[in-house]
Amino acid sequence: DAPKPSHFLRQIIERDLASGRYAGRRFAGRPGDAALHAAGPLDAAAIRTRFPPEPNGYLHVGHAKSICLNFGLARDYGGLCHLRFDDTNPEKEEQEYVDAIDEAVRWLGFDWSEPDPAGGPPRQHRYFASDYFDFMVRAAEALIDAGLAYVDEQSAEQMRATRGDFTTPGSDSPFRSRTPAENRARFAEMQSGRLPEGAAVLRAKIDMASPNINLRDPAIYRIKHATHHNTGDRWCVYPMYTFAHPIEDALEGITHSICTLEFEDQRPFYDWLLDRLVELGLITTPRPHQHEFARLNLSYVVTSKRKLRQLVDEGHVEGWDDPRMPTLVGLRRRGLTPAALRLFCERIGVTKDHAWIEDAALDAALREDLEGRAPRAMAVLDPLKLKLTNWDAVYGPGHLEPCEAPAHPQRPELAPRRFSLGPALWIEREDFAEVPPKGYFRLFPGNKVRLKYGLVVECTGCEKDAEGRITAVTATVVPDTRSGTPGADAVKVKGTITWLGAQAPEAGGGLPAELRLFERLFTEAQPDAGGRDFLTVLNPDSRRVQQGYVEPGLAALPPETHFQFERHGYFVSDRRDHAPGRPVFNRITGLKDSRGR
Ligand code: ATP
Ligand code: MG
Ligand code: MG
Repeated sequence: DAPKPSHFLRQIIERDLASGRYAGRRFAGRPGDAALHAAGPLDAAAIRTRFPPEPNGYLHVGHAKSICLNFGLARDYGGLCHLRFDDTNPEKEEQEYVDAIDEAVRWLGFDWSEPDPAGGPPRQHRYFASDYFDFMVRAAEALIDAGLAYVDEQSAEQMRATRGDFTTPGSDSPFRSRTPAENRARFAEMQSGRLPEGAAVLRAKIDMASPNINLRDPAIYRIKHATHHNTGDRWCVYPMYTFAHPIEDALEGITHSICTLEFEDQRPFYDWLLDRLVELGLITTPRPHQHEFARLNLSYVVTSKRKLRQLVDEGHVEGWDDPRMPTLVGLRRRGLTPAALRLFCERIGVTKDHAWIEDAALDAALREDLEGRAPRAMAVLDPLKLKLTNWDAVYGPGHLEPCEAPAHPQRPELAPRRFSLGPALWIEREDFAEVPPKGYFRLFPGNKVRLKYGLVVECTGCEKDAEGRITAVTATVVPDTRSGTPGADAVKVKGTITWLGAQAPEAGGGLPAELRLFERLFTEAQPDAGGRDFLTVLNPDSRRVQQGYVEPGLAALPPETHFQFERHGYFVSDRRDHAPGRPVFNRITGLKDSRGR
């Protein structure tokens, strides 16, 4: 027996494959729609999905769910997933976003190309809604000719008023009874550029009394005098998304048009439109069908493009790729990996329930990806000097003890890390307490601790400045306690601390580095719940920059290299600001979920 499909969309697909629902379908574009015909007939056995972003902003973690779902289903069922830019709103769309979306989808590990069995170049299943504007106008004209669409010249206000609401049916527009010939002439006028925006819209003629308001003669074309990023000034009418989307799906031979639940009420129009276009001979059967799933809601995160734009435009963050942003460029810069995002998307599943996912789930996926492979290193985030006052007496002046540590406990193939211990070093400020709290095993006067991979030291006291602030800790080394040497364990200690040498990095000392630590951007789990202004719950301390030290072996590291800094968590060298002479690391997440909840 085949395993039971893990979610309802898989059940639907398997049912459709078993019944042959989509067998024999073809690209439906007419001769002249060259881009589509070039792609040829479809493989009858496979499904086709699409990821249809509007290029009006950067993709976010919610889009990752849709990408993983659509591309993942196509992969799992031997089908294809198209990348399609839904570019029907010319004022808001830009090439910059198109490029960023291409890059984000590829970064996540997905691909829209189809290998050519004959060995030719792969077909690129990357389309634009604007590729189909000619066809869409013809479809609109065919609806007009069939008495299924009319040009309405009421004002937007009048149209709203006559649409009715949940309890009141709408009433007919005075323009509803125009003849097809009249509508054709008026639609041509709309396209001529002579009418101002808002002077007229083309509406589907369905049912002003429908219980589904979306079927009360929805607008399908409007006038917009705007330059389009692809088609320039060629058009001054643009299709509404709800009209364009089903046509795009049909022309591309999509089988399963998967979208978020907000579009559930649009499904009757999706079906109405495609069924009419089939009757009119403009598209062929079997046609696509729409299926809805619940969008991703992630705690402490907003995923509305409009709100993300506001964070950027008003300077609450430093840009779309600020490491605190839930955009894919932000998550990438923060250090999230494609494998972690894919794992996260798989774990959260696909349902019709509007649940909130804990942001901790994303961190957990990241740890799971990096734990087994990210090299280890030591870092000191909040440095305090430790002076070993008997060093010269024990080892002689100028001596440095070379130390070694495995790059990763399970990856012996990696070269070991090397660094040196000398008379002065950097430790974490929190690793010294003048008066130790109960259960504190780190440095306090009279206590012995092990310097990890190094020697045992015994704390003797500290030095302070005029304000009483501790400026250095003093200790003596305990000879013959080197880690990994015979007798090293003879001196028992309860605490081990991380450290880096205070000598120059060329001499095996710590490398000065900027360490950026991030917290949640919001203080409330549902920042925009109940209509609250999400800007009122911004966390004022979401970014902290520390000047610290990292191991000298990291001096020549390229950007976007992942590390586990021992005891501090997972870090990545910053994609934008890190350079070999100027190391900058972002903390991705701690070693475990330490944010109390
Ligand atoms: P926003 O509302 O933030 O502007 P959008 O849905 O308008 O987002 P699109 O570019 O149209 O953005 O989205 C492309 C695809 O990604 C759509 O199919 C949409 O349903 C899906 N998508 C967007 N947000 C989410 C989310 N939070 N969870 C799952 N899928 C999402
Ligand atoms: Mg959208
Ligand atoms: Mg939107």
